[in-house]
Amino acid sequence: MRTPPRVLTVAGSDSGGGAGIQADLKTMLALGTHGMSVLTAVTAQNSLGVQGAWELPAEAVRAQFRSVVDDIGVQAVKTGMLSSPELVETVAALLAGVSAPVVVDPVGVSKHGDALLAASALDAVRTELLPTATLATPNLDEVAQLTGVRVRDEADLPRAAAAVLGFGPRWALIKGGHLEGDAVDLLTDGAEEHWLRAPRHDNRHTHGTGCTLASAVAARLALGDTVPEAVAAAKEYVTGAIAGGFRLGAGIGPVDHGW
Ligand code: PLP
Repeated sequence: MRTPPRVLTVAGSDSGGGAGIQADLKTMLALGTHGMSVLTAVTAQNSLGVQGAWELPAEAVRAQFRSVVDDIGVQAVKTGMLSSPELVETVAALLAGVSAPVVVDPVGVSKHGDALLAASALDAVRTELLPTATLATPNLDEVAQLTGVRVRDEADLPRAAAAVLGFGPRWALIKGGHLEGDAVDLLTDGAEEHWLRAPRHDNRHTHGTGCTLASAVAARLALGDTVPEAVAAAKEYVTGAIAGGFRLGAGIGPVDHGW
């Protein structure tokens, strides 16, 4: 009997099933791993945005994490919505005790503009969470929030990556998906540079892309890939998922995990 690699997501729930924990678990399953979840917050959410969000107590986050890690074990961890300074600090302390690779998606604001992280938590993300990361995967808004670097075109990506690496993650993947033209990302550890390009899909149903990408990287790391291999495979997965993104509700639909 085969036991698949185990991957843990520490993130928020999206009741609409497009992003957050739900996107993470679908991605982990699609890539042949066993997905597990530590919930940090519950959102009332649909294709139109986030109608409400409730954070879990730090004690509940710690207890879920211990239950999973102490018995089942993890081969990779991914973090998403962490909501408050207290939860960022709690999760960073828990991650410092695991030896598995950690992918930090420093989730700030949803595509609809809903805040998923308090502004007062940014300092804890910089000084406590990012140092635990094997890989950090900020988009351009998150780069600006965390580092003050405003990326206007591809040429600015190395400067953005250097600023993120300054906070201590081993690797940074700067997602340039919001720039004009091809979707270009830069992955670097300060020595190697890997540029990843994918043609832009003219599809507005992209809810959950960030969660999906970070979870796909974590799943591939659990399967034994190096960071550059895992990111290349994850980019391919998310590009296919965006191509298959579909209408759901009256707003922005989710990416597709069944392609
Ligand atoms: N909801 C939750 C719980 C999330 O974790 C995230 C992103 O990380 C989102 C919503 C935002 O998804 P998107 O910006 O892709 O719409």
